[in-house]
Amino acid sequence: MNLQETWNPKLVSFIESAQGSDFPIQHLPLGIFKPQMDGNYRVGVAIGHFVLDLAMLDDFGLFDEYNWARKKLFNRLKLNRFMALGRKASQELRCRLVELLSADNPDLRDHQELRTHAFHRMEDITMSLPVEIGDYTDFYSSKEHATNVGIMFRGKDNALQPNWLHLPVGYHGRASTIVKSGTPIVRPSGQTKSDTEENPSFGACRLLDFELEMGFFIGSGNKMGEPISINDAEDHIWGMVVVNDWSARDIQKWEYVPLGPFLAKNFATSISPWVVTMEALEPFRTPGPVQNPKPLAYLDQQGAHAFDIKLDVSIKTSQSETFESISSSNFKYLYWSMAQQLAHHTSSGCEMRTGDLLASGTISGPTPDSYGSLLELTWRGASPITLKTGEQRTFLKDGDSLRMSAFCQNENYRIGFGEVVGEIVPAVHVQ
Ligand code: CA
Repeated sequence: MNLQETWNPKLVSFIESAQGSDFPIQHLPLGIFKPQMDGNYRVGVAIGHFVLDLAMLDDFGLFDEYNWARKKLFNRLKLNRFMALGRKASQELRCRLVELLSADNPDLRDHQELRTHAFHRMEDITMSLPVEIGDYTDFYSSKEHATNVGIMFRGKDNALQPNWLHLPVGYHGRASTIVKSGTPIVRPSGQTKSDTEENPSFGACRLLDFELEMGFFIGSGNKMGEPISINDAEDHIWGMVVVNDWSARDIQKWEYVPLGPFLAKNFATSISPWVVTMEALEPFRTPGPVQNPKPLAYLDQQGAHAFDIKLDVSIKTSQSETFESISSSNFKYLYWSMAQQLAHHTSSGCEMRTGDLLASGTISGPTPDSYGSLLELTWRGASPITLKTGEQRTFLKDGDSLRMSAFCQNENYRIGFGEVVGEIVPAVHVQ
């Protein structure tokens, strides 16, 4: 089986629930799971309604043709050890898993003992944060988002700062407060000062927002002092997750001058549990926006470097039974590609390590129903959203749950990222 064959839409798995699901045989995202009845987290792959235990496949010798087999890479609490091997190992694993899961291959299909122990129903497992994240960087790569925010704070004529069209703007975030989907989000407290107040005060954030983003993990890194070139950048990008970069707008407004985001961004960032490999995303490659002016040579790219990933944001309040969609966007809207972000990030000589997370920044589309934050959807609170319950929202209230989900779809199949959810719980008062 070669990589090209793993994208064949006619592939069928003996796991019947894979066909037509968010996790078909052409997908195969990796995550860290444990059965609810058994204490050990390990690496699994999603297929239909099941998670397949890769540590067990390795123990049974099903990967023995590869030099990474039998090294306990999957009997781990995080994906890092396998990710460090880079894209080649990831491609070998994908090819082998497609072989093993195919309807016409008896090796796993007819191995009753292994099938009984290696497959777990999705509803019977718990997932963990998939990657040990050493460093987290957040970009600001949506032209629509940067323009909207610029208009709100500086007016239409100065919406984009002079550097924005020349480099992917970003900042160094906090890896320590990146949490898995489902983790409750404590409303942050901080120092704020509104325009009508003479002095700042300390208290619970009043303008709590989400940011619809996607992030990518570094597979193999680089050495300090040795930048990753634009043409090599995609070799270092291992896989992607959905990111909710929670934001405290009132804290941000007062603190951000002159060094940029700080406490308004460091209290929580939630990510989806399945890491979608770049191999799975390859059939959904698409051209990004035309870049004008042409980027400097170290950022200049030919070909299609965006990905068509459909995004949804939904909200559920304490008074509603179900989630209600409030925005639909697409990853392909981003002005700067992941490869450009990575080439720029390392152009100074900055070292990237396996498991580092680089997020896109808020992904807003061209129309108001595709904006990726409440700041934009309500235009800084001036136009509240009315929900089906009749409730209105400008920013998030305690008891609100936010859900982001993503999928790719072509005429043949769909691959899902799963979802990232979080509920806002009341602030912890420190005074
Ligand atoms: Ca952000």
